[in-house]
Amino acid sequence: MADINDWQWLSDRHARRRPPFRIFDNVSYVGLDWVSCYVIETRDGLVLIDALYPPFTDILLENLRQLDLDPEAIGWVVVTHGHWDHAAGARALQQRFGARVVMSAADWDLIAEQPGPGPTGFTPADEDLVLDDGETLTAGETTFTFHLTPGHTLGTLSVEFPVRDGDRTWRALTYGGVGLNFTGAQRLQSYMESVRRIRQRGPFHVNLANHPGMGKLFQRADQLRQRAPGAPHPFVDEAALSAWLQTRLQAAAEALNTQESGRPAVPAPDTSTGEKGSGPWPGRLR
Ligand SMILES: [Zn+2]
Repeated sequence: MADINDWQWLSDRHARRRPPFRIFDNVSYVGLDWVSCYVIETRDGLVLIDALYPPFTDILLENLRQLDLDPEAIGWVVVTHGHWDHAAGARALQQRFGARVVMSAADWDLIAEQPGPGPTGFTPADEDLVLDDGETLTAGETTFTFHLTPGHTLGTLSVEFPVRDGDRTWRALTYGGVGLNFTGAQRLQSYMESVRRIRQRGPFHVNLANHPGMGKLFQRADQLRQRAPGAPHPFVDEAALSAWLQTRLQAAAEALNTQESGRPAVPAPDTSTGEKGSGPWPGRLR
């Protein structure tokens, strides 16, 4: 089992790499085996959701090229939260391609406080676009709606956007931060409040999770490859997304109970989010 200190595991270029694949007409997966990166194609350029981390920036660019997408067309990078595995790659994309980087105000502050050198320390992107709850970003024909969902970090930003499958359009959600790798009753309550608010703002049809294990991403990708003509799209699963959000509420409630009963405040393990073969969940900063 790897952890945050197992940099060899985290940076193993061969083991962490996954072939990129198309999910919807406008969305593809260009991330690693344990942390996601999605690319959304728009008439005004490419939008990335999350930025991975060095040394994987060049693999991200190779993945785009494999899908016949030009990295020069990267216009925006939406960073769901300020932990290194989602945020550390943003600076290179900002500097090489002039990509606009989107984060919440609280998580811009978070990445500004990065500890610096060390396996998971990083140089943050220069502060750029600040998006708040309910605000939108429009790229070409596609509008992204942001939902502030504090808990995992104080400024976790969840992203809603339309995904196209032929003549059908569905509402996809990338929930911005899931792990309960923090302590404190107030923060747990804030986490639960965020999940409840997202459930109220649904229904969302597609779970494009920022760690692939949480949305059974590779399992669904296998189903997608074998999809018969006219069959339902395996990523469109409103019930599974809703049930998964419910498991997050339960896990947070259990962690809260543990704390309030005076037992040691150990964060609840995240077993409910795992997918066999998706890799371990390193450390407290994921
Ligand atoms: Zn995280």
